[in-house]
Amino acid sequence: GNKILSSTKRALAQRVKVKDKQDRATVEQVLDPRTRMILYKLLSSGKIISIDGCISTGKEANVYHATGPDDTALAIKIFKTSILTFKARDKYVSGEYRFRQGYCKKNPRKMVRLWAEKEFRNLLRIHTTGTIKVPHPKILKSHVLVMDFIGEDGWPCPLLKDVKFNEIEFDDQPEQNGGEQLEQGGVESNPVSSLLANLYKQCLVILYRLFKHCKLVHADFSEFNLILKDNKELYVIDVSQSVEHDHPRSLDFLRHDIKNVQEFFGKHILVGDYKDIFEYITSP
Ligand code: ADP
Repeated sequence: GNKILSSTKRALAQRVKVKDKQDRATVEQVLDPRTRMILYKLLSSGKIISIDGCISTGKEANVYHATGPDDTALAIKIFKTSILTFKARDKYVSGEYRFRQGYCKKNPRKMVRLWAEKEFRNLLRIHTTGTIKVPHPKILKSHVLVMDFIGEDGWPCPLLKDVKFNEIEFDDQPEQNGGEQLEQGGVESNPVSSLLANLYKQCLVILYRLFKHCKLVHADFSEFNLILKDNKELYVIDVSQSVEHDHPRSLDFLRHDIKNVQEFFGKHILVGDYKDIFEYITSP
C-alpha cells in the first residue's frame, strides 16, 4: 500500500524531469495515487523510459511528453476525473451503441476510463483505416493513453489556431513584384493564401474520409484540435467525443464541424458552399 506509493513517488520524482516549480505543481496536480501507479508500471516495465514534461494542461486532460524505447517520442494523455466536464459530454455517449453498456454517469472514475477508451478506439480505427493522419495510439491503461508525439526535438507542432501564417518562411518565395503577382493570378500566387487553401481542402477531405472511410463524425472538429506538421500536414487529435456516423445526432455534429472549418478559413480565403459540402460528405 503506502510503501509502494511512496517509492512510486520517489521513482517518479527522479524520472519526471520538470523545468521549474510551476511545472512541478501541474505535474502533481493530476497525479493521484492510481495515476502514479499506472505511470510507475509503465516506467518500470520499460514501455516508457522517461516522462519529460508537460505539453498541455486542459480541463479534461493533461498531456505530457515522454520518451519510449529506442528514443521514440511519445505523448501521454492523462484524462481527468472531473464530473463537471463529463456532464457536458453526455450527449456524445448516450446515443452510442458501442458504449451503452458499462456507461455510468454516477461514477466519475468509470466515466473517465470510458472517455480514454473512446479516444483510444477512435484513434486506432482512424489510424488503421490509414487515410487520415492521427497520432498512433500505443498503450491504454485505464485513463492513461500513450500515443505518438507529433513534434520535433521535443517541441510539439502547433495547433492550427496558433500557426503564425505570416511568419512562415516558404522555400520558393515568388518574386515580390506586383505586376508578376497579378499575372500569376493574384491571390493564389501568395504562398500564405495557397497554404491556407491547401489546409482548407485538407480539412474537408478529413471530414469526408472520417465519415466515409472511418464511419465517424469528429464532433469537436476545429482549429483547436488540428496539429499542423512541417507547415503542411494536418493531424487530427482529441477524438474522445467522436461518434459513429449513425449516432442519432451525428449529422448535427457534422454540420457543426463543417461550420467551424468554414468560419476559420472564411476569415482568410474564399470558401466553398456550406450546403454543397454537407451534401457531398453525406451523399450515399
Ligand atoms: P484536451 O481534451 O485536454 O484538449 P487534447 O487531446 O486536445 O486534450 O490535447 C491537448 C493539447 O496537447 C493539444 O492541444 C496539443 O497541443 C497537445 N497534444 C495532444 N496530443 C498530442 C500529440 N500526440 N503530440 C503532440 N502534442 C499533442
